[in-house]
This record gives sequence, structure tokens and C-alpha cells, in this order.
Amino acid sequence: MSTDPRRAIPSTDRLLALDQVVDASRRLAPHVIRRIIIEAQDAARRGDITPESVSEQVVTAVEEAQPTQLSSVLNATGVIIHTNLGRAPLSEAARDALVTAAGYVDLELDLTDGKRSKRGTWAKTAVLANAPEAEDVLIVNNGAAALALATTALSVARGTPEIVMSRGELVEIGAGFRLPDLIVSTGVELAEVGTTNRTTVDDYRSAITERTGALLKVHPSNYWIGGFSAGVNTKQLAKLAAEHDLPLIVDVGSGLFDQDPVLPEEPTIAAALKDGADVVIASGDKLLGGPQAGLLLGTRDVIATLSTHPLARAFRADKFTLAALEATLNAPSTPVHDALHVDPAELHQRCHRIAETVGAEVVAHNGRVGGGGGAGVELPGWAISLDERFAYPLRTGDPAILPRVSDGRCLLDLRCVPADADEVVLQRLQEIFQEHG
Ligand SMILES: *Cc1c(COP(=O)(O)O)cnc(C)c1O
Repeated sequence: MSTDPRRAIPSTDRLLALDQVVDASRRLAPHVIRRIIIEAQDAARRGDITPESVSEQVVTAVEEAQPTQLSSVLNATGVIIHTNLGRAPLSEAARDALVTAAGYVDLELDLTDGKRSKRGTWAKTAVLANAPEAEDVLIVNNGAAALALATTALSVARGTPEIVMSRGELVEIGAGFRLPDLIVSTGVELAEVGTTNRTTVDDYRSAITERTGALLKVHPSNYWIGGFSAGVNTKQLAKLAAEHDLPLIVDVGSGLFDQDPVLPEEPTIAAALKDGADVVIASGDKLLGGPQAGLLLGTRDVIATLSTHPLARAFRADKFTLAALEATLNAPSTPVHDALHVDPAELHQRCHRIAETVGAEVVAHNGRVGGGGGAGVELPGWAISLDERFAYPLRTGDPAILPRVSDGRCLLDLRCVPADADEVVLQRLQEIFQEHG
């Protein structure tokens, strides 16, 4: 009778004693190392690897293992604000700020007198420098939190639970996230007015009762209504709100401070404030190009009401958000802005150089703003066109490169790939051509 080969699988103690494993234990928690060991032993028990190669597999795995499983991805989809890739990538300045914020910092301390100071003052100053029309700002965790806070604090919390809103603006933002569901979740009652395609000022006016707390306008970030349609603009709504002494909340969504010529239809924070909104809501990680955050900009009174509502504490931004937001706004540009304004001729040149070297084709390819706004806007550009087979090795390689797969082609759009990563993209393509022909 031959002995069971599985008995040759090295014991956990023996594997833990390997020099490389001991080294790795300075970087990794015991449970991470244990999981790697168990996985290798199990693979040998199943016969996927030989008992003799267990040690080698463990050594390779612990050397490759990182404390986080999150991987950097080169975004070659041409979609600038890619929800599945974490929305806006941060500028160098914002990344540096995150590292600073990671330690002890003077978040709520005045170092000159050693006394407690207001939290997040610098981030607020940076926001207000970009929105001089606003008297004050409150920074919360994200746009959804900002909307929940504004609608709740300005309605139910004051005993007037109704918010008036157009049926044309009942948006689902991302998979399963519906703004009306969020709004009513805190006890707010929605008074929906108008129809999907047409809403008039009179529709809003006739819905106002003594139970009305505020009027709400939401930018439908990911769709637009054309054809036989009519909406009510912020100016008209502000006038109606003022007549009834009600606050007007405007959710612009994407966080563009001022008009961008590339996105002429995108509402801006500046315009909403100028047109008379009492509070404007925007996300930090869409077109603003910063960290996940929710901005509430408006009058001193309204911001004070929001800041003192108990939910403000539950939604408050952490030190990383405040630091990255401030740095984003105090730096000259953001990767989102750069990707939006990249010169198509330069994109063509970059694509052409790589395509020529590996013998691929360059095709016209339009970039997109993505989850952050600019619905329907096409950004003219180019892509390297490869066989669809390339998509898998590109995604799973090091670094991970996410192409767009469309009509059986694997398209590499360099709009959102930093130019200094072109060499890496080229290298990966050459490796894949060698391996897979
Ligand atoms: C994206 C968006 C939100 C939600 O913002 P998050 O920052 O994703 O929470 C709310 N309203 C509008 C109009 C949006 O576009």
C-alpha cells in the first residue's frame, strides 16, 4: 500500500517558519497569512498542485499579497466618471493631502493658541472661493446625504412635511438608487406635480399648502426629456418660493461650479445660486473632480438650519474628504477636467504611436462624461482597436487596464489614461501579443 501523497503536504507550522513567511508577517496580519497557507494546502489536497510545490506557492502568494486587495486600474474606456472605477480620480495635490490627513492633524485645533477651532474651515474657504454667490457651505458625506439632510431639515423638522417636486425629475441615479425613495425615507412627503414631460409654474403653485416645507428642483443627470416638453427653471421657481416664503432646494448633481464650454447644458452651482436657490446640492466626486462628498451651498440662514440638524452629524465629512476636497480646489486642475478637455489630435497621436508599434488600428471613438453628468454628450476622440480576446488579459494583468468591449472589438481609449502611462500600456500590449499572438 502506497502512502497517501497528501501526507507530504507541509504542515502549517513548517510553512509559518519559512523565512519569506516570517518576513511577510511584518507587513500582513496573521489571518491573511493563515488564509494563504490554507488555500495552498487545500489546493494540494484537491490535487490541483503537488505537495512539493505548496511551500513555493505560499512564498509567492505572501510576497505578492498586499494589505488591501484594491487594485489600481488604468481606465481605457473613455468614460471619465466611471462609477465602477470609483468615479473621479484625484489630483496629485489631493492624493498628497490624503497622506497628510492620515496622521494626527490640526483638524479642529488652532495651533497658535492651542485651543479648539472649527472643523473643516479650510475646506469651506476653498469651496466658497469657487462659489462667491454662496454665503456659507456645509460639507457632508455625499450628494445623497446632502439631499436627505436638506429635504428633511427644511420640511419635516419644521412641522411642514411636504416637498414639492416635478414628476419629470424623479430620477434613478445609479443601479437601484432612486432619489424619491431617499427623500421620503426620513418622513418627508413628496407632492409630485406635472407630468413626465411637462411641468408648469402653476403646477407647483397649486400644490403649495400650509403643509409645504420647500420646493425642490433636481437635475436629471443621466437622461433628458425632449420633444413636447416643458420644465420650470430655477429663476421661476425661486420667484414662486419667495412669494410663499418657502426655501428652494436645487440639486445640480455634478458639482460644476461654472459653465464649461464642453458641457453647455450642464447646470452649474453659480447659476443656481444666482437664479435664487436658497441651497444648492452637488457631489464632490463627479465633475468637481474631488473626493466623495456632498456640498450644500446657500444662504447663511439655511446652512445654519442644516448644520444644526442631528442628521448633519451622522452625515458629516471625515478628515480625508475635507483634506482632499480643499486640495482639489486649491490645485490648478483635476484629472476629470483634463480628460474632459484633452485635445483629440493629441489623443490620436498617442493612440497612433502605440497602435503602430503593435500593428493595430486606430478608430474614431467618442468619450463620455459618465455617471457624473453630461448625459448624451459625446467627446470626440480615438481608440486603439484590438481583437476582443485582448480584453481579459488586459483587465487581469499588472497593471490592470480596463478597455471598452463593443461589437467584438477591444477598444483602448486613452482619454482617461495619463500620458505618462502610455509606455506601460504599450508594454502590456506587446506582452499580450507575444503570449496570445
Ligand atoms: C449623483 C447625484 C446624486 C447623488 O450624489 P452622490 O454623491 O452619488 O451621493 C444626487 N442627485 C443628483 C442630481 C445626482 O446627479
